[in-house]
Amino acid sequence: MQGPLPPPIGLYVHVPFCVSKCAYCDFASYAGREADMPRYVDAVVREIKRRGEETGHPRADTIFLGGGTPSLLDEGQVTRILEALLGAFSVDEDAEITCECNPGTLTSGFAHALRNAGANRLSLGAQAARTRLLRLLGRIHDWEQAIVSLEIARQAGFDNINLDLMFGLPSQTVADFQETLDAALALSPTHVSCYGLMVEEETPISRDIAAGKLALPDEETDRDMYELARRTLAENGFEQYEISNFARPGYACRHNVGCWTRVPYLGFGSAAHSFFGECRAMNPSRLDAYLAGEEPKTEHISKEKARFESMMLGLRMTRGVKDEDFTRMHGLSIREAFGEKLDKPIAAGLLEWREGALRLTRLGMDLENSVLVDLL
Ligand code: SF4
Repeated sequence: MQGPLPPPIGLYVHVPFCVSKCAYCDFASYAGREADMPRYVDAVVREIKRRGEETGHPRADTIFLGGGTPSLLDEGQVTRILEALLGAFSVDEDAEITCECNPGTLTSGFAHALRNAGANRLSLGAQAARTRLLRLLGRIHDWEQAIVSLEIARQAGFDNINLDLMFGLPSQTVADFQETLDAALALSPTHVSCYGLMVEEETPISRDIAAGKLALPDEETDRDMYELARRTLAENGFEQYEISNFARPGYACRHNVGCWTRVPYLGFGSAAHSFFGECRAMNPSRLDAYLAGEEPKTEHISKEKARFESMMLGLRMTRGVKDEDFTRMHGLSIREAFGEKLDKPIAAGLLEWREGALRLTRLGMDLENSVLVDLL
């Protein structure tokens, strides 16, 4: 008789190529390096096969192709990557297999190749309905192209589709964001991610803001937009399951939930991280360093750091961190691990115990960083 299945891990592949660099982007992505794509795919496939053997072909139940813009790969390249993953790991038949795509790059051929290779979830970087805002972000597409991409995805057989939206953009009003939410809901996605703009140093948008050419909405407007997303999405049947993520029942992104609950994962490609055997490994973030075969940097996670990570990641989720799960993972209850450090954020109404779990309150979600500082 067969024993219980081993716990599954997640698999991630980073595809660092983009058509052009968005004005706010400081991710490990490159424009104008398409000529390196064949070499990159060869290197990723080699890495997948090698790591599969080194780790004993573990069971996996999620795959995520992220970027960058994975939909810039050609059909043969994306098929090779997915086939390499399916060959090197024991991937569950009902695994969640996601690919990030950007409007303006998704072709019908690519979407069909993805489906044929087993992908069943697509994440589309739609971002905003107003062309003015998309231009200011340096996005290469307009909303019409997001609609076309969604149709292409549906025709290829994808029915589990996430739309990424952004708020807190320079000159964006609450009414603009309402328009984006309404336009997104009209497309009937199963999942919506709403991220506030993070202005990173050394990006064109940060320089324009510093020079006074662009102005961010004030804090209150920013918060109003976030509240608008929470309310509008809840009214339309979406459950908020993480600070920035909303899903129809049963459609939470399993891969990301795994990351937030410290399920081990292996990452492939430049800038990809892995978390496996209480060790984190970071592949070189520079494309050239990865192509040159530079080794990943590894870090052993101490028991104390592992406990903090469980809180840092788990508190992002609305269900919080279950004491029972924490105790099973770390051999200590949350109270035993954090002691008096819990008292201040609980007294301030930022953290609360509910149904055996420690969670951020509504206010705590806004002030998550201060809670983490208290727990450090
Ligand atoms: S598409 Fe995404 S990864 Fe590429 S430049 Fe824009 S924000 Fe960065």
